[in-house]
Amino acid sequence: MKILIVEDEPSMRELIKESLEKERFVVETAGDISTAVQKAGTYNYDCILLDVMLPDGSGLKFLEQLKRMRKRENVIIISAKDSLEDKVLGLDLGADDYLPKPFHLAELNARVKSLLRRRHRDGEHAVTVGNVTLFPDNFRVEVDGNPLELSRKEYDILHHFMNRPGRMVSKGALAESVWGDHIDQADNFDFIYAQMKNLRKKLSEAGASIEVKAVYGLGYKLVE
Ligand code: CA
Repeated sequence: MKILIVEDEPSMRELIKESLEKERFVVETAGDISTAVQKAGTYNYDCILLDVMLPDGSGLKFLEQLKRMRKRENVIIISAKDSLEDKVLGLDLGADDYLPKPFHLAELNARVKSLLRRRHRDGEHAVTVGNVTLFPDNFRVEVDGNPLELSRKEYDILHHFMNRPGRMVSKGALAESVWGDHIDQADNFDFIYAQMKNLRKKLSEAGASIEVKAVYGLGYKLVE
């Protein structure tokens, strides 16, 4: 799961980044609207945290641009300006939540997780496909009720596919979501193969009724 923080104050940005990384999110950052627009135009995020007072204008302008780009990222506005106007305008422009500064990092983490639960799992705490169940709150996976031990990356890959059963995922999109935006500068995606091979082996040995299938030349797909 990848999050973009749009915040111009470096110490604030770092605090939020560290806190979300502890929750095992892949975190990218932008310090102004133009960087945010460029990133959102190039990459996909599961959630965007958006400050309102930014050096090159109002974060609400960025919301309008997201809409024009037909991006459907979930957005939480984090604003020091505790004005009702910002809140109403932001939610009108399609933001999903609003958190006034100052806030506790625990509260922000909870809001992000709740938003992602709504986005990917209809509010459910666990996601089940076939006989495999994944519990994102504590990074556990079970096959037929028995625990399945996965490495961090194997888990992240499985999580990505469990949120998108039956859908084609390109290697680029997978790499970007699990490893981060910088990965598009990689020469090839060979590093995916090793992780994928181990994940498939573990799933099959555990008797999983699901499989991450390679779609030749295109990417992968989770099938039952
Ligand atoms: Ca600011």
